[in-house]
Amino acid sequence: MIRVWQMTSVVAICLIGLVLPSRADEAVEWKAGVATVIVTPSQPMWMAGYASRTKPSDGVLSELHAKALAIQDSAGTRAVIVTTDLISIPRVLREQVVAAVEKQFKLSGNGLLLNCSHTHCSPVVKDDLELSVMYRLEPEQRKRIETYFVELRDKLIGVIGAAIEDLQPARLSYSHSRCGFAMNRRLPTKDGFQNSPYPDGPVDQDVPVLRVETFEGKLKAVAFGYACHNTTTGLQQFNADYAGYAQTEIEKAHPGTTALFVMGCGGDQNPYPRGQIEWAQTHGKSLATAVEAALLPQAKVVHGPLKVDFKEIDLPFEPVTKDELLSRRESKDIYEQRRVEALLADVAKTGKVRSSYPYPVQVLQFGSDLTLVTMGGEVVIDYSLRLKKELGKGPVWVAGYSNDVMAYIPSERVLAEGGYEGTGAMRYTSLPSAWQQGVEERIVTAIREMTERLRSK
Ligand SMILES: [Zn+2]
Repeated sequence: MIRVWQMTSVVAICLIGLVLPSRADEAVEWKAGVATVIVTPSQPMWMAGYASRTKPSDGVLSELHAKALAIQDSAGTRAVIVTTDLISIPRVLREQVVAAVEKQFKLSGNGLLLNCSHTHCSPVVKDDLELSVMYRLEPEQRKRIETYFVELRDKLIGVIGAAIEDLQPARLSYSHSRCGFAMNRRLPTKDGFQNSPYPDGPVDQDVPVLRVETFEGKLKAVAFGYACHNTTTGLQQFNADYAGYAQTEIEKAHPGTTALFVMGCGGDQNPYPRGQIEWAQTHGKSLATAVEAALLPQAKVVHGPLKVDFKEIDLPFEPVTKDELLSRRESKDIYEQRRVEALLADVAKTGKVRSSYPYPVQVLQFGSDLTLVTMGGEVVIDYSLRLKKELGKGPVWVAGYSNDVMAYIPSERVLAEGGYEGTGAMRYTSLPSAWQQGVEERIVTAIREMTERLRSK
């Protein structure tokens, strides 16, 4: 008897899975389109992320991609989520892409999200902030970076256009799950904070998943997030690290579906274990499994309207005078020497030491069903935990590494503690000093105001 009952249940479940509800009378609330392009450099290039690299790339382990998911509500408001297997999105790259897509596709920059996975096995993207300090490259390598920048920009513009071209009736839903390999990497020691596994430190192991189905019920795209440095290895072969393997696994399991990885606030989070490519593959499979888990339950339908906003806020640095810069020139540290050199060149041009940075924040509001918040830079996990709690009202998805990656973005706690993500990593940029106290409140206030304004419109 029991066996018969079980069989009947299985048949019933299968039937529910097969017989799609009639949607003939369902109004089209969304349109969605996707497109993918390979952005792996065609020749060896200097690789990003680790200052210790001594030679350019040596082959390709897995292709690097840029993917675009275009979403349009019934009133015609659009957002395009672009994910990339790149170390960073320089501000100048976003500016040029926005100028082109506003003109060519009438896409407002407010709705354009450019996120990078932060794989350290991708090329240096032209970024004067970092380039002048972290690396001293031969003219030939610099030329390749210039050429690649133009190719990349044009490919991004193209993939955004192709996703918009692909817009077709769709349904959106949201779910989430968890994945466990991200761990806090700021280990407190008597000599300060060390980059080492710290299982007692804050983490956010949430895996947010936006499911996009065609009107016929076929899975068209899956955008998913995770807050963890995409740095399982530092190989000399181009590869997209765990985030790349996760996307490949999902696309293999669901032929015809585009999987897009959105980097979260993983500034102070590392994948563990790490060091070998096998771990990147294992982590990729774990993350893909978490996405499959999120696809299982009855997902929450996401309704419109879609509202989007983007702005740059003035984020101040600790004040530095030109005289202080001149005295710092005597430093024995090669990176500090290059940094001061770059800063003095900037002073010669502008007449002053730069005192703040135009920091990008963005909100994509999907009715009352999903709030996607994006922030520039290498954002630490405290922002993710805080914004989810404070913005409340339905699911909140927080992405870092979006629209510009200029430096680490510490919370007030991490700034006060110091260490690499607090103040130390500024040494590799041509920014003058640490962020001024109050950095967290400035950013959170701007995001809260934007969100409230969008929700009340
Ligand atoms: Zn990083």
